[in-house]
Amino acid sequence: MTKKIININLANPRGFCAGVVRAIEIVEKSIEKYGPPIYVRHEVVHNKFVIENLKKKGAIFTDNIDEIPMNSHVIFSAHGVSKKIREESKQYQLKPIDATCPLVTKVHNEVNHYLNNDYEIIMIGHKGHPEVEGTLGQEAESAKMFLVENESDIKKIKVKNKDKLAYVTQTTLSLDETRNIISKLITVFPNIKGPKADDICYATQNRQDAVNNQLDKAELLIVVGSNNSSNSNRLKELGDKKNIESYLVDSPKSIKSEWFNNKKEVLLTGGASAPEELIKSIIERIASLTNIKINEFNGVKENIIFKLPKI
Ligand code: SF4
Repeated sequence: MTKKIININLANPRGFCAGVVRAIEIVEKSIEKYGPPIYVRHEVVHNKFVIENLKKKGAIFTDNIDEIPMNSHVIFSAHGVSKKIREESKQYQLKPIDATCPLVTKVHNEVNHYLNNDYEIIMIGHKGHPEVEGTLGQEAESAKMFLVENESDIKKIKVKNKDKLAYVTQTTLSLDETRNIISKLITVFPNIKGPKADDICYATQNRQDAVNNQLDKAELLIVVGSNNSSNSNRLKELGDKKNIESYLVDSPKSIKSEWFNNKKEVLLTGGASAPEELIKSIIERIASLTNIKINEFNGVKENIIFKLPKI
């Protein structure tokens, strides 16, 4: 009996964004220039495959500045760091190389602008995510900053002056949820200042739009990305919310043959830190389990390139 053919519909754009490309290049170029090992504060991007490759080349990832030998170079991850981490690096006489995505730096600049003008700031984001810690940590005590994860957090906020209040957002949030939180914020604090729409980056937006455009006919959604990748989790949630069987995978080994039983339309995408090489190996694994036809969809063309810092 011939095996049935499953359509693997590839969302576009998918995979690497400009901030991730830049951050990986910074680590590789630093290893080339200064020789291994090169210390990186936190996983430079949240993808296991990328991290393992960089470890093999000589990168050492740590969350603790005090584990890095004095006078070493230290790379700050794409998620950005708090002022405290920058200060600690100085104390340990480390030589920082900044791989913070320029779109995260833009949010830090917004925060610093508001702080300098004596505003309190609400950050919409996920507690504990390194980008959120870095952005909240633009203010040493975080006394003028409040974290809001969902609409119900808004009523817990006690601000000093409703007219001197602003909001910023994490760059990798769900577009729909963030829009709802922002409109609630505007209802509660009508004079709140903020970015034109939100701080969600182009890559997060384009990847969510590409999945949403193809989701209606999908019976299975596979998102290539690691568990700690915020934007990849948000892509998987798009499927979950529509009750479509959805998986987040970062290794071909995680693909199970039973996922494809009685399915014909599979939508496959990759989060902003998932390399195309890994996406290909996942497609190969699916092809080893069943007959597939690959359909590549047109999507927004991304031609953003971020300049490297001086290394
Ligand atoms: S996902 Fe967005 S903010 Fe994060 S590194 Fe990529 S471009 Fe920058």
